[in-house]
Amino acid sequence: MIWNPLKGHKQAAEIGPAQWQRVEARLPFLARLSAAEQAALREMALRFIAAKEWHGAQGLELTAEMQLSIALQACLPVLKLGLHWYDGWVGIVIYPGDFLIPRSVMDADGVVHEYDDAVLGEAWEGGPVLLSWFDAPDAVAGINIVIHEFAHKLDMRSGVADGMPPLGDHMPAQRWRSTFEPAYADFCQRVDQDQDTRLDPYGAEAPAEFFAVMSEAFFETPDLLYEEYPQVYRQLALFYRQEPRGSAVL
Ligand SMILES: [Zn+2]
Repeated sequence: MIWNPLKGHKQAAEIGPAQWQRVEARLPFLARLSAAEQAALREMALRFIAAKEWHGAQGLELTAEMQLSIALQACLPVLKLGLHWYDGWVGIVIYPGDFLIPRSVMDADGVVHEYDDAVLGEAWEGGPVLLSWFDAPDAVAGINIVIHEFAHKLDMRSGVADGMPPLGDHMPAQRWRSTFEPAYADFCQRVDQDQDTRLDPYGAEAPAEFFAVMSEAFFETPDLLYEEYPQVYRQLALFYRQEPRGSAVL
């Protein structure tokens, strides 16, 4: 099903303050933005909604508020980078919470195995972003599926999802690597030892997942990230050109 409740017939001015506030109240981390930044984010979210093709899967009926919620979260990471960071693909596919993706894999003997994979989201290089929609956004505590998948999209702009997005001229790649590599190694070791990492242990899956999980934390629980990995926080602040902890480093 392709349907965009907010495309064309419904213009920005038709979204009333009450509707914005209803959506934003469920995204409490947006309260860290200044009034000017919140206004810029709303404006960017509407451009993002218009620029993408939205699909509700498995019978999910998209609503304007779902689109606004996803767009606000997707645009937060690129608020200071620009919406062009999401150029080159158009599809956003939204599934009911905890969707199963049918998989088909051929093994070395030529036998195809079918199975269903439970996922919260996926980002395909050059292709769509797939997301689960939960009516209660905190149904999965401490996790932000939208920021996670869109962080992968930013990472992929360097050609491959390896945990290092294209860095600006102000950011030496060596500094990024010398920050992220030891932090990732430390995180993996703590996960292996069953320690309470406070940050989503899924970040130990791969460097790309570590970047995505740290990006979720940067926007949702920046103080926690700073306590755990202050240098990672600083690199992300430089990359995203934002300072969610409030003190200016830029
Ligand atoms: Zn991921």
